[in-house]
Amino acid sequence: MQEQPVNIPCPICSEEGHLRMVANVDEIPYFGEHTQVTVLCHSCGWRQTDFIPAEGKKAGAWALVLNDSEKLRTRVVRSSSCTVRIPELDLEVMPGTNSTGYVSNIEGVLNRFVDIINMVRRDVERDVETESEESEENANALKTLDSLLTSIAQAGEQSVFTVEFLDPNGHSMILDQDAVERELTEEELAELPIGPDPAVFSSDDVDN
Ligand SMILES: [Zn+2]
Repeated sequence: MQEQPVNIPCPICSEEGHLRMVANVDEIPYFGEHTQVTVLCHSCGWRQTDFIPAEGKKAGAWALVLNDSEKLRTRVVRSSSCTVRIPELDLEVMPGTNSTGYVSNIEGVLNRFVDIINMVRRDVERDVETESEESEENANALKTLDSLLTSIAQAGEQSVFTVEFLDPNGHSMILDQDAVERELTEEELAELPIGPDPAVFSSDDVDN
């Protein structure tokens, strides 16, 4: 694949002349033809991948209730501007500087939450080890984190909850006949972050 130079400074390290873009057209089952765009910085290593559907999509929210373990296999396309929420568990992953798009399934989305929860858990455990007395606060935190891990592990079985995708750019989808799509409200559009926007491409540029 050919890298094209991008004439703006890196949105992360601000170095000039190191940003490149790679674009290729691909077919994702059910999602249809789309352009995969990766922007990368040869100075700091930052990279961001995104999936831009050939047909423009409206700013959209998708929700799927995991009431069956079969739903874990549901395919998803999550773009770098997408916030992922599990309202029943009070969990949310917002686009950040390392946000990147991916094609996966619901299980892959849940595994990303598990990774984050385990990371927080290790921090709390380290705190517990360095303190002479175990604080009640840390004990409660571990209990909460463990119950979240249990809920996620039992998704679609003993534990029923909703996975929501909120994407102001409308480039994300949950590909399931039971998934519910709606437009984002004005308030949501005002509040939702879209992550670092290198502004190096618009859908018009990609089509050319
Ligand atoms: Zn950089």
